[in-house]
Amino acid sequence: MAACKKCGRVSKEIATVLSFCAECIRGADGKFLAGLEAIHARSRQEFNLPASPPSGPAGVQCRLCRNECRIPVGGRGYCGVRRNENGHLKGGTAGEAAVSWYSDPLPTNCVADWVCAGGSGAGYPKWAYRPGPEQGYANLAVFYQACTFNCLFCQNWHYREHSMKKTHTAAELAEAVTAQTSCICFFGGDPTCQLPHALAASRLARKQNARRILRICWETNGSMSPELLDEMMDLSIESGGCIKFDLKAMDANIHYALCGVDNRRTLENFAAAAGRIPERPQPPPLVASTLLVPGYIDAREVEAIASFIAKLNPDIPYALLGFHGDFLMTDLPPTSWKQAESCLEAAKSAGLKRVRIGNINILR
Ligand code: SF4
Ligand code: SF4
Ligand code: SF4
Ligand SMILES: [Zn+2]
Repeated sequence: MAACKKCGRVSKEIATVLSFCAECIRGADGKFLAGLEAIHARSRQEFNLPASPPSGPAGVQCRLCRNECRIPVGGRGYCGVRRNENGHLKGGTAGEAAVSWYSDPLPTNCVADWVCAGGSGAGYPKWAYRPGPEQGYANLAVFYQACTFNCLFCQNWHYREHSMKKTHTAAELAEAVTAQTSCICFFGGDPTCQLPHALAASRLARKQNARRILRICWETNGSMSPELLDEMMDLSIESGGCIKFDLKAMDANIHYALCGVDNRRTLENFAAAAGRIPERPQPPPLVASTLLVPGYIDAREVEAIASFIAKLNPDIPYALLGFHGDFLMTDLPPTSWKQAESCLEAAKSAGLKRVRIGNINILR
């Protein structure tokens, strides 16, 4: 329960860390947004992460993501894993990434499980081992311990405590693929800031398992460079996998308030990925999801996201996910059935044909 510092409204759906309601954030001006910048900067201090993307003229440029940091000698980028050692960019490369992995038996709790080859058998027999859920096989779940965003609700925020403590090569990761592995899912954190590692590991794993199905999938905030997105899509399309974009908000101010970074690159990348769907329409190569943050990601926001998706392609599957309080937003309640149902209705009426509520066990 908090009061909005602008309009005075008190609600259990106003997060104390922000102390502004969605309406006031939507209509905010530049000065107001600078205040939000300070909130994000403070939240990063504890983890020794740069307050904002470094931009000094003397730094070495990293172009892996939209933050386009210019990292000074001895410094680190916004994500914390890319660093400048004597003028050379290190971290997130094929030789060294902050990453861990585990084998997750299929069918698994994946945001695309209702439409993908591993969860539903879509594309069998070319892309799946079974006509239904792939019992007897496993997903290699690969968790990258860094991110290009700073979401105040981050449900995997513990990665911030582990970045670069222990690193692995792409070859080590590729070796973790067994005869039972039918798909690899790169997530985190976010794979974006360590994509050179993920792409190298994917190619190696595919080469070592060239005669059988091994799908490459991604779960991401979509902030990578357009060139890297193309490489990810190439791998997913040629392997029967998919890329899962988390579209967190459509309103630029709401997105910035929640995630500390704007959504322009994410939306541009999503549109570019949608343009490649005809290359292999089944199983769907592109899937979208949105976390229903109470008070902030309401039916109005979902309607805007769904309209954006529907204009690109109304067949793109869209999953709405229940929220539970985490990281700096533990005071918000879980997503209610009422909110989830109104968002579902909004997404359908925006023209999307394949929408569903993901983790209904969280709803209250
Ligand atoms: S990956 Fe993104 S956040 Fe990390 S250093 Fe490069 S540009 Fe900055
Ligand atoms: S990794 Fe890909 S194929 Fe495997 S369960 Fe997830 S979305 Fe489906
Ligand atoms: S994009 Fe995902 S991993 Fe990154 S901060 Fe946001 S919620 Fe956390
Ligand atoms: Zn307000």
